[in-house]
Amino acid sequence: MAGTPVPATEQARPHVERFGVDPFGQLLVGGVPLERLAARVGGTPFFAYDRAAITAAVARVRAALGRSVELGYAVKANPMPAVLGHLAGRVDWLDVASGGELALALDAGADPARISFAGPGKTDAELRRAVAAGVLVELESPHEALRLAAAGESLGLRPRVAVRVNPDFAVKGSGMRMGGGPQQFGVDVEQVPQLLDLVADLQLAMEGFHLFAGSQNLQAEILVEAHRRTVELLLGLAEKVGTATSYLNLGGGFGIPYFPQDRPLDLDRVGTELAGLVADFVRPAHPEAHVVIELGRFLVGEAGVYVTRVVDRKTSRGQTYLVVDGGMHHQLAASGNFGQVIRRNYPLTVGTRPAEAAAGEVTVVGCLCTPLDLLGDRVDLPPADIGDLVVVFQAGAYGRTASPEAFLGHPAPAEVLV
Ligand SMILES: *Cc1c(COP(=O)(O)O)cnc(C)c1O
Repeated sequence: MAGTPVPATEQARPHVERFGVDPFGQLLVGGVPLERLAARVGGTPFFAYDRAAITAAVARVRAALGRSVELGYAVKANPMPAVLGHLAGRVDWLDVASGGELALALDAGADPARISFAGPGKTDAELRRAVAAGVLVELESPHEALRLAAAGESLGLRPRVAVRVNPDFAVKGSGMRMGGGPQQFGVDVEQVPQLLDLVADLQLAMEGFHLFAGSQNLQAEILVEAHRRTVELLLGLAEKVGTATSYLNLGGGFGIPYFPQDRPLDLDRVGTELAGLVADFVRPAHPEAHVVIELGRFLVGEAGVYVTRVVDRKTSRGQTYLVVDGGMHHQLAASGNFGQVIRRNYPLTVGTRPAEAAAGEVTVVGCLCTPLDLLGDRVDLPPADIGDLVVVFQAGAYGRTASPEAFLGHPAPAEVLV
């Protein structure tokens, strides 16, 4: 495929089909034509998340995983309160990674018993809030265990903990590796026995283990292998704990397709193999344990679009530019500056006429005064002029809150759950 650019119209087609087009040729989001949605929101740019698409993603995962595996949502993927409120009643766990996310999860109505708190740099204040709320703290170091115990003592409460493990294997094929080798996350598996002794000495309520090997994986066979090794490793560690293990968080990392070469994950295969692992290895030793898969982007990423309006169209030495009123300050990932090694275009289209034939190559740039603010590099889009809406797909996860919103002082984008 190298050297054969895929026309943006082709790259966007499956996404246009998922969202649908109204009789006048406009993209629909949650059944609302895009211009009408822009009017309802009050202007551009904005993020729109399709409620039904989130519900459907949860249902697909549940159907694939079966009843023996519980589903967690990693709040950092999209912490919009309305999205969290929608998900809080539909998933079994919320995974938070800051005091701010903890507050959002509690406000969304999540049961504190089913909130887990991960993250390598939890402050004393955050640990205190976590203990007071009664959530499960995923320990990332011995020092954190000491500080957590102090928080518990001062509050007269017994902190609930799980140990986050940095495995001695790495998962290939992940967009972002977060386990294996040296890591700031978790405790190396070989150091876990010592930490378990400390946890027992401190009389923390030890509930189980968490292992997150990496993110954005589209290859079922690699995920299946990671799950197999994760289960093996965590069951071995659970044997070293004096008390019953009630929590085994196997991570997640289920990817979504962003680029032309990306094939959707074979979810059924992952689910079937995982259910088998749980039945064969976990249940005999831990019949009651919560076995959790925690997902972020897989539940919300495909449900979101980022909508901008074309404010200028100009030509520079033969290259046509569409300048839109949004950009990398809202949707950094689409500019290629969020963990991409080689910049590739996110799927995008002209939301006011997504079904029309490509009208020639244009480059879509944001409104920031930096060459980094590139949303579509030489893309073959339907015809677009000043006033048209340009839509970036796969924007439901790591969008607004993963972008440098203050950069260049433009206003924040609106967000709507439709
Ligand atoms: C970020 C993160 C996730 C979610 O990753 P996705 O790729 O969005 O599914 C899950 N677990 C942990 C510990 C994370 O840090």
